[in-house]
Amino acid sequence: MILDIYIMILLFVLGLVMGSFFMVVGSRLPKGESIIKPRSHCDECGHILEWYELIPVFSFVFQLGRCSKCKTKLSIAYPFIEILNGFLFSLSYALYGFSYEMIAFLIISCILVLVFVSDFMYMIILDEPLIIGSILILILKLYFFGFNTFTRSIYSGLIMFIFMLLVKLIGDKVFKRESLGGGDVKLVTFFGFVFGVRLSFVSIVLGSFLAFPYAIFTSFSKKDREVPFGPFLILALLLVFIYMEPIKDFLNLFVFGL
Ligand SMILES: [Zn+2]
Repeated sequence: MILDIYIMILLFVLGLVMGSFFMVVGSRLPKGESIIKPRSHCDECGHILEWYELIPVFSFVFQLGRCSKCKTKLSIAYPFIEILNGFLFSLSYALYGFSYEMIAFLIISCILVLVFVSDFMYMIILDEPLIIGSILILILKLYFFGFNTFTRSIYSGLIMFIFMLLVKLIGDKVFKRESLGGGDVKLVTFFGFVFGVRLSFVSIVLGSFLAFPYAIFTSFSKKDREVPFGPFLILALLLVFIYMEPIKDFLNLFVFGL
């Protein structure tokens, strides 16, 4: 029990640090900037951050959410993303203990946070995290479940890729503009690797439901903005992952096993 709490605190801290890193990755890669150079700085005055200004959450709180030099307000997104990531990291252990599910949950969490940052801020879903995540998931499947599951996962990913590509091509024709981003297609391919075909479709449906209120909201607000679908898709993926067993039971009742 004490050990469990200790592990969860460690994971939370690790999650904070990784979240801080994801914030840098998610805000720099879409602009084509390097992750390493220049060092972290204030976007307003260029002040290069000292080590004590780089501590996740704490620096933000102690500086009262402002740059220590020019006093420009810092985005609340920084501590929010860091805490979210820390929470998801300790949740992985709380839900699953050390297991395949825990590692898979961690990978999905990292992608969730990165997609949140880059898709909400820049309407871009980065390729790198999805490619790395897909490879890691496939290696895990091979290691934990053997070659048959591994090949089935690859087929499922391919099926989801072809399906989403068709939806996108048809959608582009019908709406005469880009209906789905290429990032969404790659994201759902990742779903296929994680879940197989049935649960991937469940995730797409759930993601659409989650995105709907936000889409309505943005269409009423004056800004003519596209709705980023990625964050809702990946949130749906995480939820379906957590409730995988009851959803499978439900599907088995009504849909023939695939
Ligand atoms: Zn500044």
